[in-house]
Amino acid sequence: MKTLFEKIYDGEIPAEILHKDELCCAFADISPQAPTHFLVIPRKAIPRLGEATPEDQSLLGHLLLTAGQVAKKLGLSETGFRTVINHGTHGGETVPHLHIHVLGGRQLDWPPG
Ligand code: 5GP
Repeated sequence: MKTLFEKIYDGEIPAEILHKDELCCAFADISPQAPTHFLVIPRKAIPRLGEATPEDQSLLGHLLLTAGQVAKKLGLSETGFRTVINHGTHGGETVPHLHIHVLGGRQLDWPPG
């Protein structure tokens, strides 16, 4: 069965797509926690970061590069942005398909709650 984010990648669930290639896509988060909040997901349904394997190494790099490029395209480079990957219960993960959050457009607090 497809994950929620596979369905978004495949266009079966609508989303504001910001980038799409053969390996990943980036789309606006449905519940933004900052003026700009998007997710970068691999097409491959890796459940979470700790379950990625060495064969995913270049894919993981591609996801990070894409996060940076889309952030730049959206004008976040100068003011800054944050990337977050939540793994499991304590991490706050709610969708079991690896995703990188990118948040920007306001001052973010540290440490996170
Ligand atoms: P997590 O809590 O797993 O790190 O992040 C999951 C994120 O996916 C949340 O920020 C949530 O708002 C977002 N999300 C959940 N369902 C949908 C959806 O159907 N469409 C979009 N665009 N984002 C979603």
